[in-house]
Amino acid sequence: MYEDDDPQEGISVMQLNSELRHAQLELVSAHCATHHLRLRYSVDDLARFGRSDLLRKSAEAASALHEFYQGIQNRVAKPEVQRELFTQGTPEQIAQGVDWLCDYMRQQREAHFPLAEPLAASQKTALARYFRVRLLEQVRVVELNGARVPVPEFLAQVRALGFDNLPDVQHMESLTFIDVVAFNERLTERALFHALVHTVQIQVLGLERYAELWVRGFLKGRALFTVPLEVHAFSLASRFLRPLAETFSVEDQVLHWAAGNRY
Ligand SMILES: [Zn+2]
Repeated sequence: MYEDDDPQEGISVMQLNSELRHAQLELVSAHCATHHLRLRYSVDDLARFGRSDLLRKSAEAASALHEFYQGIQNRVAKPEVQRELFTQGTPEQIAQGVDWLCDYMRQQREAHFPLAEPLAASQKTALARYFRVRLLEQVRVVELNGARVPVPEFLAQVRALGFDNLPDVQHMESLTFIDVVAFNERLTERALFHALVHTVQIQVLGLERYAELWVRGFLKGRALFTVPLEVHAFSLASRFLRPLAETFSVEDQVLHWAAGNRY
């Protein structure tokens, strides 16, 4: 083992570079042979008199080599690729993000709970085809009519670490704080259904796991709409709003996604 070995991968970096050097020298000789050919014959002559199988094999080898090395080159040369790796977040950053998110959700739940109200009887009846009655009894909703939820303080710190495209909580239709749903403007059927899917996800997964999956999902796609927990809530709300709405259990759907590691 050498000083610059990567113990995790069990490879010798020196050996790797010696083999890379060897392959590169072979490529230089292939390049020289082709250059020699190019000086002696025109492209037209080669196309006309060259054996088609030799030409085809040479072209295939050259493009396969180009593709292989270009793929590696793209990874090392483009800063955005490194940036992408960086913004997946370190384990410490993810743990910190989960703590921040859980704290914010607990605080906001407590702040909104006194003003929040149970669902109306008509809403509970309509939604009983999709959610357990116990959940519908438990959930509280509050319409902020433009007052809007506060921007979490930690978002500025997250942004300072170089994470961008963060969710704009003040322009989201609804925010689910465990079992309390706040609507920045007014309650709509779609936003309520979407929020209730999140309450089920939180009950099934637990708040910590939900927050962890949310943070990891966000770091992967770096957009609200690519977080699997959100994708599922959006798609179930769309199913609910179809003209010929079917009856389905949101809890079963969430359990199914959780069991399949789709979050
Ligand atoms: Zn959502």
